[in-house]
Amino acid sequence: MPHDAQVIFKPELLVDVELPPGWRCGRHPEGTWWASGPCPKCEGDAYGPTLPPDTGGDGAVHAEREIVAAKPVAEVRADCRCNFVQGDGSTSCGRYWVVQCYEAKD
Ligand SMILES: [Zn+2]
Ligand SMILES: [Zn+2]
Repeated sequence: MPHDAQVIFKPELLVDVELPPGWRCGRHPEGTWWASGPCPKCEGDAYGPTLPPDTGGDGAVHAEREIVAAKPVAEVRADCRCNFVQGDGSTSCGRYWVVQCYEAKD
């Protein structure tokens, strides 16, 4: 989906949000979780709480897990960081939400 710039900036917690496809969770080597995917509101890039590691081949993301099944093992706050101005000098649509990360089903 293309980015929707018509979404007006609003710092708002999205509750019970249905995340679009493409969300992934993983664990940094030091143990903190990250989540990354498209913003459910404006379709821009979103992640939290930190950038996912570079997936460029050094094996650092071997702990990466698809959000697929089983019980959630972590909850990660993610923020829209689409880098589009959507009002009030913003750099995103301002939404944030909680991502539930699941263990991959082997
Ligand atoms: Zn946006
Ligand atoms: Zn957004």
